[in-house]
Amino acid sequence: MRVVQWGSLVVKKILFFVCFLAVVIPFTITWSTGKSEVKMDIDNASEQFDSNKIDIGNMDSVGFLPKVGNTDGSQNKNTGLKKDQKGNQSIDKLIAVINEAEQKLKSDTEDNFLEGNLILVNKWTSLPGVYVPKDMVKVVDENNNVLLRSTKSDIELKKVALEAAINMFKAADQKGIKGLTLVSGYRSYDVQNWLYNNKVKALTDKYEKELAYEKAAEIVAPPGTSEHQTGLVIDITTPELLKSGDPLSSHFGNTVQGKWVYRNSWKYGFVVRYAVDKKDITGIIYEPWHLRYVGAPHAEFMYKNNLCLEEYLDYIKDKKHIKITSENRKLYDIIYSFVPVSADTFTKLFGNQVEYDISGDGQEGYIITITKE
Ligand SMILES: [Zn+2]
Repeated sequence: MRVVQWGSLVVKKILFFVCFLAVVIPFTITWSTGKSEVKMDIDNASEQFDSNKIDIGNMDSVGFLPKVGNTDGSQNKNTGLKKDQKGNQSIDKLIAVINEAEQKLKSDTEDNFLEGNLILVNKWTSLPGVYVPKDMVKVVDENNNVLLRSTKSDIELKKVALEAAINMFKAADQKGIKGLTLVSGYRSYDVQNWLYNNKVKALTDKYEKELAYEKAAEIVAPPGTSEHQTGLVIDITTPELLKSGDPLSSHFGNTVQGKWVYRNSWKYGFVVRYAVDKKDITGIIYEPWHLRYVGAPHAEFMYKNNLCLEEYLDYIKDKKHIKITSENRKLYDIIYSFVPVSADTFTKLFGNQVEYDISGDGQEGYIITITKE
């Protein structure tokens, strides 16, 4: 006599078939009503955006709602196509609509990710060759007024960073921390390219070509990966180190000026970007002379919580919304958003009273900073 056992092949096959039906039947039911459900989902999504009062631009105009179409099934009624063919056609259309909307969103916002004080640039997140920051100014103006003590008159910085550096140098001078001097600022993609290729050439005598590129990257930032391309970076030193011929050395961190800068630069919106203990995260060795402008209250928060820019951006992205009370008693709401938020949205929500700033993160989203007195 044959006893049917639960573990036997026949039983396994039956169980498999029952499971298969359990999946396929609901799916088929969903599929037959699927078109209206797709519309509902998208309607809900747009309602959700509305309720958040985030302006996502004109998604309708790229066909997000109407082009999904077929809500009454009219288009396919007399085509004589089999049901699965109709299904495939709808899927193709849906994918095309999604692709189009994504492309539109990308082309609308791509450049914006690269604007603002919080953009991240490192060896893993580079700037494109065409990227030139806006609002650039020279440290010596057209009337030959020296705006900032510098080794060269043609150094350029983003206006916001230059103004912050002027304030910081002034404060240092007043405290008796003398002679802080700017050595370098904005470095274009072309200059980075030239510096990098020169280093590669110099190393090709020693190494195979591929290895030369690798070794060069350890000494000179490959084009697009230098934070100096943002216009938000200053390399500074002291008169003594300038005289020594090695102005940008780790010794700066041990000077009176270097120590003051480390403890106080956040008050002017700067952070010492490459700390000793963050080497593995930033990919750059200790550089006490290299300051990055990120603005208030970000510099204060990063300094007081010992976070480098990579860590800070991850932190905001993870929390979505943080509140900061700064030492000057101002309150800040900081919000991370994957979609751009228009000035109109702010006016609608807050009137003209609100002070806010939006910065791209250089990768995929935006940091919104709202200041409350
Ligand atoms: Zn630097």
